[in-house]
Amino acid sequence: MAESSAFGRFFLPGPTDVRPEILSAQVGPMLGHRARAMEELIGSIQPGLQRIFRTSRPVYIAASSATGLMEAAVRNGVRRRVLALTNGAFSERFHRIALATGLEADVLDVGWGGVHTPDRVEEALRGKDYDAVTVVHCETSTGVLNPIAELAEVVHAAGDVVLLVDTVSSQTGAPVEVDAWGLDVVVTGSQKCFALPPGLAFAVVQEEILERAESKPDRGLYFDFLEYEKNIRKNQTPTTPAVSLIYALAEQVRRIEAEGIESRWARHRAMAERVWAWVDELRDRGVGLSILAPEGYRSPTVTCIDVPDGWTGPALAAAVKERGGYTVAPGYGKLRDRMIRIGHMGDHTLEGLEGLLAVLEEVLTR
Ligand SMILES: *Cc1c(COP(=O)(O)O)cnc(C)c1O
Repeated sequence: MAESSAFGRFFLPGPTDVRPEILSAQVGPMLGHRARAMEELIGSIQPGLQRIFRTSRPVYIAASSATGLMEAAVRNGVRRRVLALTNGAFSERFHRIALATGLEADVLDVGWGGVHTPDRVEEALRGKDYDAVTVVHCETSTGVLNPIAELAEVVHAAGDVVLLVDTVSSQTGAPVEVDAWGLDVVVTGSQKCFALPPGLAFAVVQEEILERAESKPDRGLYFDFLEYEKNIRKNQTPTTPAVSLIYALAEQVRRIEAEGIESRWARHRAMAERVWAWVDELRDRGVGLSILAPEGYRSPTVTCIDVPDGWTGPALAAAVKERGGYTVAPGYGKLRDRMIRIGHMGDHTLEGLEGLLAVLEEVLTR
């Protein structure tokens, strides 16, 4: 293989690096999806998942990428008209999903790098007949972390309005108190902070969303939340589960619990703070770097950095790869040339991150 398979050099903000122990945990016999052994496996994972998601509701497990459950959230949870809070590529995707599923959808856009604050959302909801709001917790295209706890408060104060939250690149890397914050739907994927291979998606769905789903006969079949609910009660999935990935999930849930979810959040926070301090240090030395997300709203899981004059995002990413075998992402979409993104998420460590920053520094100051 051309690529080194050692853990710790692959810093894409999804898919992120997966530990060899997790990769090998996938190796196990196939199980029928109504077999007792499969039920026992899913049943053994549920309590840990509920603690990780901070919820007393079941955690749905789907064989799909995260976008599948974003679509499910919209199809099951929106009655008629949704307000999409946009500030980057993934929040714009939520809006596109709403339109593609035949709903009425407006945006409240604060621009790439902007943050959604409760006052503006409150104002946007006032006197309007939205029944749902979509938001992305960590906008992976910009590194901004929206204050979803505060947003949930103003959304619920607006009446019979639900908040559908994409926590794809924040879940397990930043605090997400699903029940305590009153998040009506939370969806995430396996390949970001969970540090699993891609292919699984998870959702927590509060009871009132199931009532909404009942009143929507055109909510679709593959991602029907009522089917997920009925099946997870029996530790089953509506259709064939991704058996191998669920073996890996079982191992990773054990590991996340052994680390402790709060320690995991702290480790992410420490990695992010190290990147922010490093950017400041280099700027003090005359290297023109800056962080896109405003202070106070920076994600602990991904940092989007403006590259100095003379560099482009893809050129810097390529140089870091060549010099040290590290993988970082260029900017996303329209920011591709201007930025790089470091995904300090999942099972990465401060030590491993230091190695990447040292190589970045060599490349930028040589
Ligand atoms: C990666 C990502 C997605 C899309 O996830 P897929 O698994 O590729 O469908 C959605 N939202 C955010 C915030 C992401 O980071």
